[in-house]
Amino acid sequence: MTNAVMPTYARADVAFERGEGPYIFDTNGRRYLDFGAGIAVNVLGHAHPTLVKALNAAGSKLWHTSNLYRIPAQENLAATLTAHSFADMAFFGNSGAEANEGAIKVVRKYQSANGRPERYRIITFEGAFHGRTLATLAAGRQQKHLAGFGPVVDGFDQVPYGDLAAAKAAITRETAGFLVEPIQGESGIRVPPPGFLKGLRALADEHDLLLAFDEVQTGLGRTGKLFGYEYDGVKPDVMALAKALGGGFPIGAVLATMKAGVGMTAGTHGSTFGGNPLAAAVANAVMSEILAPGFIERAAKVGERLKSGLDDLMRKHGNKLTEVRGRGLMLGLKVQGDMGKLIDVLRGNGLLVVSAGDNVIRLLPPLIIDEAHVSEGLGILDRSLRDFTP
Ligand SMILES: *Cc1c(COP(=O)(O)O)cnc(C)c1O
Repeated sequence: MTNAVMPTYARADVAFERGEGPYIFDTNGRRYLDFGAGIAVNVLGHAHPTLVKALNAAGSKLWHTSNLYRIPAQENLAATLTAHSFADMAFFGNSGAEANEGAIKVVRKYQSANGRPERYRIITFEGAFHGRTLATLAAGRQQKHLAGFGPVVDGFDQVPYGDLAAAKAAITRETAGFLVEPIQGESGIRVPPPGFLKGLRALADEHDLLLAFDEVQTGLGRTGKLFGYEYDGVKPDVMALAKALGGGFPIGAVLATMKAGVGMTAGTHGSTFGGNPLAAAVANAVMSEILAPGFIERAAKVGERLKSGLDDLMRKHGNKLTEVRGRGLMLGLKVQGDMGKLIDVLRGNGLLVVSAGDNVIRLLPPLIIDEAHVSEGLGILDRSLRDFTP
């Protein structure tokens, strides 16, 4: 069969037609344990009854109205997100890149609304990934993503991740703020040194800059806490969310404090689809599950169990694995040898995982997995590592 899809992805030759909890079934009826979860998206697994019910209820009532009118489900979602975070307000879009674009705009607007339009530059960090729009590409500054798409959008300065002294030295009269992932996902589950985010907070306060966190991947329970920033005892001024927020339905959000969002008045930003009744209804259902008492604590425990199992595997297959990284159910395995080949072996043995930079395999299972799924996944990893010749 010819394929008319623009070939921008290196896809594995497998297609899925059905999912159930942490399992997914391909078009030949083969079952896989899904520890990729659509790249940290299917936070409640596949076909979760609460989400199916919410989608069907909203789907037979009202899909879309535009943001020319009030949207009660969207207001409800904003109330939930702000009640459980640092933020006072939320803007809704459809993806992680759009959420980061919004965050970048909030940072710039804050400075200009305070009479300092010359402050428009944002300091970002090597290895960052913020999305594939022109501004978020410039923010991430990965050569492999930027090639051929120049000129690069102006307004971003990059320093090494985790390097507070470099971040401080990069501040100029034109700096507006910082944009940073509490744990870098795409570049290989890189956890910053303790004190790094706190140090950025202090620098931001000292220079009246805004601190923006990209929690598109780390947010909503993934790291074992509702937000990744909770580990560091600091709060941002702005935050981008997406991936898990719709549990598979496309929706993203920019959260901001009242202070940071001061310039975001009527007409300054918008999105036709953002937070429409259908998307907001599904996201409300996701949030009700994630915020249920004990849900995240349970996922954090399961994450610890998975991590200690991975540590055991590293001891056993020390010539093929060199490091276990991450928090909660956002875990990385640094591989010695051909990572792509190992991912294929794993899939052949019934386990889906996601590649990342630095030769790291990401394990991002749905947060609903239990000990039995952990054992099953570890068993497949063990067998696959035995069969894998680097
Ligand atoms: C996935 C991701 C994005 C981009 O999200 P899209 O929905 O693909 O636009 C941005 N930032 C981080 C940290 C991500 O993991």
